[in-house]
Amino acid sequence: MRIGIDDTDSPAGMCTTYLGALLARKIERAGMPVREARLVRLNPNVTYKTRGNAAICLDVQGNPEEIFSMARTLVEDYADFSCENTNPGIVAVDRTPPPDFYYRAVRDFCTLDEALSLLRNLGARYRGYKNGRGIIGATAAVCSTFADPTYELLAYRDQERWGIPRVVDESSIFSADDHTYPHTWDSVDRECGVVVCVPHTPDPVLFGIRGERPGWVSYAREWIVSEKPSVEQIFVTNQGTDEHLVGGHIGDLREGCSYMVRGTVSDLPVTRRGGHVSISMEDAGGSVRCMAYEPTKGFREVIRRLRPGDEVVAAGSYKGESINLEKIQVVRLSQEVIARPPVCERCGKRMTSAGSGKGYKCRRCGGRSTTPERVTQHRTLPVGWYEVTPSARRHLAKPLCRGLPDLSRFGL
Ligand code: ATP
Repeated sequence: MRIGIDDTDSPAGMCTTYLGALLARKIERAGMPVREARLVRLNPNVTYKTRGNAAICLDVQGNPEEIFSMARTLVEDYADFSCENTNPGIVAVDRTPPPDFYYRAVRDFCTLDEALSLLRNLGARYRGYKNGRGIIGATAAVCSTFADPTYELLAYRDQERWGIPRVVDESSIFSADDHTYPHTWDSVDRECGVVVCVPHTPDPVLFGIRGERPGWVSYAREWIVSEKPSVEQIFVTNQGTDEHLVGGHIGDLREGCSYMVRGTVSDLPVTRRGGHVSISMEDAGGSVRCMAYEPTKGFREVIRRLRPGDEVVAAGSYKGESINLEKIQVVRLSQEVIARPPVCERCGKRMTSAGSGKGYKCRRCGGRSTTPERVTQHRTLPVGWYEVTPSARRHLAKPLCRGLPDLSRFGL
């Protein structure tokens, strides 16, 4: 059977993954094997989310009635019911349902009614608290299927330490990364020189190590020196897989969905207030703005070096009429030709502008010309894929160290 849980935390504390880890222990203590603990990331653009829009599913060999009742007790004991935006949901199914609802929840938006109607058709047990919205994520979690599973080892703090500064030796996390990257990723951000895998929020997570295999995350964990965790759990996840992206065409992009789009750069990049960089790209359907926000750091330098006519493939969420870039492929560079004042035919000195729309004038001999010299610029930006820095990466975004995107999956 599978049991799914979602929406138990608030910005003030708790974490649904922690509840999942506690439930797994409780079930095993009762003699029922937990075959898998699944950490399921859903559409990152859902506005109700507390942090990373995660739901949990445990795959258990055991008695559904008993497990459902254990989950209820844990949710009722631990969920932060005082927060208006915390609306827990629990779902239990006897067997894994078809994955359609999961795919919609990771790539699009679902309603509570849709989840409830599916659950009734499946004859599932479920329970919603307050407005019951967590049932959506819990349903998606039990329906989840991972074509490209990755793993995360999460270490949790003792309850009496929640909210006080975490004691983790940062250099030990750099050592863990030294010994396991690229089989683990996003533990540290070398460009910014910071640790990424230790949160700063008041929740129970001490650190989380993401990687390709349970063995790699466990090996990385051995390097880490920190306060003693109370619980550690390895989850199988859809993190780092680009599962949220679908192939898209400009003009058909829907707010809150995430896309891989092929197009041609149509304007010079613009650096806006706050250091955010934008470019426009177009395809047959129209034009769209693409944003590289300040936290994406060195990635913005790539965007600044794009020129009109460059062919690119952009990946990111469509929000507020822009694609918020997660990564980009520079497919082909256009020829950049710039116009500059010509050399004076009479005296050989370079002319200067004679004023807007008035052509060029030689300051030495007074010669005039209306024709600029056209110079083809040498473009040095290598073609290939570029991605945002790890501290700006979304949970679902596939890091390039895991392999380049397979564009055929997106029909591109
Ligand atoms: P938590 O640790 O509590 O799970 P979170 O950051 O993962 O925190 P939630 O507090 O769970 O976010 O809030 C997300 C809410 O949005 C949940 O109620 C979930 O059921 C709902 N939800 C998730 N995905 C979708 C979707 N695609 N469409 C509509 N609602 C969704």
